[in-house]
Amino acid sequence: MSKHNTQTQHCLAISLADLNIWCYQCDSYVLNYELQNVYKTFHLAKFGTVPGENLGLAQGGPKRSVEEKEEPEADIKAKVKTLAEWIRQSKNCVIFTGAGISTSASIPDFRGPQGVWTLKEKGLQAESIRLEQAAPTPCHMAIVALLNHFKANNKTLYIISQNIDGLHLRSGISRNSISELHGNSFKEICWDCSKEYLRTFDAAERSGLGGKNCEVCLKRVPKFCHCTSRKCSCGSELKDSIIHFGENLPQDALTAAIKHSSNADLCIVLGSSLTVAPANEMPSKTKNNNGKVCIVNLQTTFYDDKSDLRIFGKTDMFMTLLMEELGITVPAFDLNNFFMDPSIQ
Ligand code: NAD
Repeated sequence: MSKHNTQTQHCLAISLADLNIWCYQCDSYVLNYELQNVYKTFHLAKFGTVPGENLGLAQGGPKRSVEEKEEPEADIKAKVKTLAEWIRQSKNCVIFTGAGISTSASIPDFRGPQGVWTLKEKGLQAESIRLEQAAPTPCHMAIVALLNHFKANNKTLYIISQNIDGLHLRSGISRNSISELHGNSFKEICWDCSKEYLRTFDAAERSGLGGKNCEVCLKRVPKFCHCTSRKCSCGSELKDSIIHFGENLPQDALTAAIKHSSNADLCIVLGSSLTVAPANEMPSKTKNNNGKVCIVNLQTTFYDDKSDLRIFGKTDMFMTLLMEELGITVPAFDLNNFFMDPSIQ
């Protein structure tokens, strides 16, 4: 039934509450390509739909409008006050980020009006700068400030990001504060000894080439070759860390994301259309914990009805107002903090 079961003979269990798949013997969540059909079957049975885009699942479900809208500033300010109060009360908070928080850094999203896929459907190409050129936005820096604030008050804030642009780590947050569920363009990894290398350049630039001949990659991923043409200190080929459709999410990052979302009393979604599963299931896990969910996004999302606070506004403006309301000073971006990471090479 699944690679995990075939390799380990361990029994797997699927929870009908939140559809997570669990291995009791490994004491961890399991999600891999083979299991996606099982997941899809249970999702259909429980919700009557299949997520529109599901890292390898069939496409389906209703279509969302591409249109973006912004509420009047006065309405946004009132909602900022509400969220600030929830943050003051929160002991375990999760911030879930998507491509929308990086559009002001000149990195296009996928599904916005100027997004990569929206324009591709029209035969056009989205404009982007090189990832090395991008700097963290006011929203990224506000997240740094909020993390420091939670730490100083002995409270937990955890970041879950779908972004591969590496801007959260560049902004200076520590690696143990974040799950980068879809990888990081600046990070390459050794599949043999698990060593990670954080680069100052786009480590995924040369991967994809030579896929025909790389049996190691083909055994593990559906179509893509992740070899970066560089070698680990142990001698093995290094692989980029980007997750393509149909590939497993990094197990440690996923397990940590599920754990924090399930324990959170507040989940703040910033700049995501919440279409990509299983990442988009994190806010529901906070709801299942009787936590509150706040969504800040310019387009509608399928989770809007389930949210406790919904803001149609730009994430930079919203997070800046939020920090002002909380009286938290936002640090200026300093690339030196990124270079302090001991694994950077
Ligand atoms: P998405 O394109 O589906 O949705 C982005 C959402 O952000 C849109 O709904 C858009 O309306 C909204 N948005 C755009 N600018 C905004 C702003 N300034 N303020 C508020 N909202 C804004 O992206 P997603 O939900 O993150 O989808 C996930 C997939 O996209 C992931 O697989 C991710 O790896 C990939 N992706 C990542 C990047 C990146 O790393 N920067 C860029 C493009 C795509």
